[in-house]
Amino acid sequence: MRLTVTEVAKSFGGVPVLQGCSLVVEEGELAAVLGPSGCGKTTLLRIVTGFEQADAGSVRIGDREVTGLPPEKRGVGIVPQEAALFPHLTVARNVGFGLPRGSRDRVAECLELVGLAGFGERMPHELSGGQQQRVALARALAPRPGVVLLDEPFNALDRSLRVTVRDDVRAALKRAGATAVLVTHDQEEALSMADTVAVMREGRIVQEGMPASVYATPHDLGVATFIGEAVVLEAYSTDGVASCTLGDLPHRANGATGPGHVALRPEQFELSEVSGLSGPSEPDAGVHGEVERVEFFGHDAAITVRLDSGNTIRARTRGDVPYRPGHRIGVTVRGPVLFYPE
Ligand code: ATP
Repeated sequence: MRLTVTEVAKSFGGVPVLQGCSLVVEEGELAAVLGPSGCGKTTLLRIVTGFEQADAGSVRIGDREVTGLPPEKRGVGIVPQEAALFPHLTVARNVGFGLPRGSRDRVAECLELVGLAGFGERMPHELSGGQQQRVALARALAPRPGVVLLDEPFNALDRSLRVTVRDDVRAALKRAGATAVLVTHDQEEALSMADTVAVMREGRIVQEGMPASVYATPHDLGVATFIGEAVVLEAYSTDGVASCTLGDLPHRANGATGPGHVALRPEQFELSEVSGLSGPSEPDAGVHGEVERVEFFGHDAAITVRLDSGNTIRARTRGDVPYRPGHRIGVTVRGPVLFYPE
């Protein structure tokens, strides 16, 4: 069902933690709430579940206002940070815990949804961390909740396992047709897994949208640097062109003139070899600098360049580029940049 959080406020001991916090998650969608530690993500989830009461604002699930209801009346499923299964109960009994007697078919169906058909008679300690987390998801889905909340559900898993478990979890949520909210501080996880991302800062959702559109058009400099990597440089804008240490760069902030900052994505930099001499002899090479560091990741690489102006940029390139620390290099910029006036 659709989740609608409207203008929620919450203070602890007079200190505001949420203020004017609004979020809409459409039916069947997976939304990631992404924000730095302490911005209020867990508090928002606790208000949706009913473990915490908002000071102001409302929560609706489908057509039902649930703001004042206790947790058990809300129809919200929760997947906690660690699976938190009952260690003395079988997998099937863990999944069926909140269901009426005689729900064996539903238990089997939910285990199937998370790819664990046939695991019902195992004990939790006989499962891997990723499997335990999938059982926790099956348990959350079993009573057919209107909304499923996942609170940093992959934290306890090591990095390589995380990627496969999050694919499994996404697939299971989609198969179940669940409306889900994933809280995470891992932007790669949010961008790759969610249908929409909601960026939270200081108790507010500052931008909501499809991952690619939030990445391409961040609402402000804070979002630009929080979602993905960005090189930020001082700039001065006139007529849709921002002048900065990288030259005169077109931008899309129509009408914005005067001082401000440009933000560039690492894949916007084009690097080229130049001769040992810097200077005007190779005008197509853009501005010049020296390679400071090369980080090789296999399919791609990150090249840190110290520009002659003194600024440092970090560019993403293909993995097979020939640059090494100390090489002289030319830097040009591809595509329009982001400009934010002061
Ligand atoms: P993290 O990513 O670190 O889990 P978060 O974004 O989930 O952080 P919250 O746990 O919602 O943030 O906390 C937001 C702020 O509210 C923090 O400053 C926290 O100390 C404060 N806070 C949360 N719960 C309480 C409480 N019960 N009493 C007092 N302060 C609280």
